[in-house]
Amino acid sequence: MIMYQLKPVGVVRNQIKHPDDVQRLKHSESVVDVFDDYSTGLFMTETFDYLDILFNFHLSQITSAADDWMVTTRSGEKKGVFASRSPLRPNLIGVTTVKVIERNGNRLKVSGLDAVDGTPVLDIKACDTSVFEDVEMKKYHTTVMKNNPRVSIRKSIIAEDTEKLLLEAGKMHGHYCPGLAMGVMAATRAMQELDAESDGLEDLLAIVETNNCLADGVQFVTGCSFGNNSLIFHDVGKTAITLTKRSGKGFRVVSRPDSQAYIRQSFPEFDNYYEEVVARKNRDPEIVAAYRKSGVKRSFGTLKLDFDRLFDTMWVEVEVPEYAPSHDDEICHKCGESVMASRVVNTDGNIECLSCSDTEISVLDGHGIHHSA
Ligand SMILES: [Zn+2]
Ligand SMILES: [Zn+2]
Repeated sequence: MIMYQLKPVGVVRNQIKHPDDVQRLKHSESVVDVFDDYSTGLFMTETFDYLDILFNFHLSQITSAADDWMVTTRSGEKKGVFASRSPLRPNLIGVTTVKVIERNGNRLKVSGLDAVDGTPVLDIKACDTSVFEDVEMKKYHTTVMKNNPRVSIRKSIIAEDTEKLLLEAGKMHGHYCPGLAMGVMAATRAMQELDAESDGLEDLLAIVETNNCLADGVQFVTGCSFGNNSLIFHDVGKTAITLTKRSGKGFRVVSRPDSQAYIRQSFPEFDNYYEEVVARKNRDPEIVAAYRKSGVKRSFGTLKLDFDRLFDTMWVEVEVPEYAPSHDDEICHKCGESVMASRVVNTDGNIECLSCSDTEISVLDGHGIHHSA
């Protein structure tokens, strides 16, 4: 039989000394200290979100009891060793996909590494995430088959995982900002208070009192949107939302007058970069990058601030509108385009759309709701 020899390339450093505590490590940080001989191999590792760390279960010893290669898991279940993450393995090799936090020289800071302090590291590899994307895709199809595209959002709301919700809401909003974070926080709280789920059928309604970043966080978390007629806009310029079911018993969340100051004080470095980049138009790539980074830090940091210092909450009575009417379409005789019957004018027996008939229309844009000339 060919035998192999392995040389450690580094060592794990963290607070966990005993293997029984490794579950704690799933949620904490470790440093992988890479030996000088291999330090150049770390170049660019910090650009990855995930890495695979291979290590040696140096505290485990294969005994005759392990000869049948069956293990008992923490939950008491019997499994084959290859179906488990047991440290009692033929070659005592552990492998864990970790989240990369940062690299300082030959010290790689990661989270999720379930190896105790002093564990010899055998290898570090770029993680191939394409297989996870397939899994995600499969999950996606299962969800759609169950006809509830919001399963994962619902789970995050129940778990109050506002970080995940913000991460996702950013896909819609295009950037991360405290306004979006506040929208996510306010909407998550309101959804919890109402024990609500959104079916996109106007049984849950959200009223937003401003058309700024907050509104996108609210649309994402509540599922009440412009497109499914469940988003109501009161153009009053307040950072506030009300969520209600059709009973009209609504939960209102409004930002406190000093909430902006509270956010600014909590993340002061952002203002300095803002001043430099936005006010003084400094385009030094390092400064711009630092500005963006501090913005993201402030947005996600906002989630961790004291909810009750950011918002006031109250139960309110809401006048719930009738379900949106459905109309047949008519054809404009001028442009030939089909148009909702509720939006046509009849000029001398001819059907015209509002655009062709030069009628004043309501417009919602960055200035709020107004009428076109
Ligand atoms: Zn924004
Ligand atoms: Zn027309």
